[in-house]
Amino acid sequence: MTTPPGNPYAQQANPAAPAGQWAAPQGHGPYLTCRFCGSAPAVDVTFRAHRGLLVLMTFRKLEGPMCHGCGMQVYRKLTTETLWQGWWSPLSLVLFTPLTLLWNVVASAKVKKLQAAVPAPY
Ligand SMILES: [Zn+2]
Repeated sequence: MTTPPGNPYAQQANPAAPAGQWAAPQGHGPYLTCRFCGSAPAVDVTFRAHRGLLVLMTFRKLEGPMCHGCGMQVYRKLTTETLWQGWWSPLSLVLFTPLTLLWNVVASAKVKKLQAAVPAPY
């Protein structure tokens, strides 16, 4: 596809963009798309959940590029699970649950900075 000369708003696809990332306008570099909905912009984050089971504990994480909407959904879901399942072992009570909640707050700050997502053009 060629663009007419003199059109200042024309955007050309960036042929150097790796697979899985849609082409950004020249000069801005490729950027990530959401792993769930494919929207952009997205940021690479990891959200965690913790569950204390008296003497056992489980740790889960969900990572990957996420847009604002999907990232906030994952943040709320895993944080809510941690808030009611995370306190039921001694080590979880004093260490792992507070750290997991703190980690998720820090990760959610990255997602909150993103603008509203727009669908990827493919
Ligand atoms: Zn998304």
